[in-house]
Amino acid sequence: MTSPDKYTVERITEIHAYTPNLFRFRTTRYRGYRFIPGQFARLGLHDDEGKIIWRAYSIVSASYDEHLEFFSIVVPDGAFTSRLARLGVGDEILVEKMNYGFLTTDRFEGGRDLWMLSTGTGVAPFVSILYEASTWTDYDRIVLVHSVRHSAELAYTETVESLKHHEYFGEFAHKLVYVPVVTREAVAGALAKRIPELLESGELEGRVGFALDRDTSRVMICGNPEMVEDTRQWFLGHGYELSRRGKPGHLALENLW
Ligand code: NAP
Repeated sequence: MTSPDKYTVERITEIHAYTPNLFRFRTTRYRGYRFIPGQFARLGLHDDEGKIIWRAYSIVSASYDEHLEFFSIVVPDGAFTSRLARLGVGDEILVEKMNYGFLTTDRFEGGRDLWMLSTGTGVAPFVSILYEASTWTDYDRIVLVHSVRHSAELAYTETVESLKHHEYFGEFAHKLVYVPVVTREAVAGALAKRIPELLESGELEGRVGFALDRDTSRVMICGNPEMVEDTRQWFLGHGYELSRRGKPGHLALENLW
């Protein structure tokens, strides 16, 4: 049971659907809400009996934005997302005051290149990380890989492209290599295989234009739990170590469900 002082009641301010089952939405933000880019929030909705259902959602928006943004699929028959998908602008949503998660760049020490590997809605925390000034000053090169089934699901392409003209980040934007991956449709400009295969074949490094290197690369992985596990195994097999509390390594991961 979560007591009211553990959460705030916010309102949905904007909804944008990419496909019938994929949408982003914004909410008001409690002034005291704090998070580190890469972390997730816990969102709550009332079920038919008035009980609150809570789900974890990675935060897409920047740490300094006045709103919160989230990116969601509609899970067929999912108790939470099917309710969420029926909400409209002005409707209430609960946001726990605590924030969670360790998919944050402060898990790393040193490192020159930041590689962010995502599938589906797992791109969310990486967008927030791209909106943090320290990301651009701490790393010389930044790679964002977003793997989706169909091109319509490449929801943040425009956002990433817009960084080139961003008031503050524009001067750093040349550091970023964005790699869309579309696995179930042939799309010009996108790679077409799953992330572990692209790593194993060297195709990803070829596309990015520089190599992964255990000493200088720091790698974040987020999305489908099977992708996270398969990709983690690939990196462990190549000598990378997980970052742990008090023991920075080369890898930080988050499973989405
Ligand atoms: P997805 O199946 O996660 O696919 C997204 C991308 O990840 C595709 O490019 C896919 O490639 C790739 N992928 C899948 N498995 C992989 C693996 N083992 N290694 C590397 N890449 C892999 O699809 P989605 O549309 O983003 O999400 C739909 C799924 O998410 C549903 O199964 C849904 O139930 C689940 N989900 C559940 C929750 C929840 O809270 N319960 C939340 C979010 C998502 P391929 O095209 O080759 O498969």
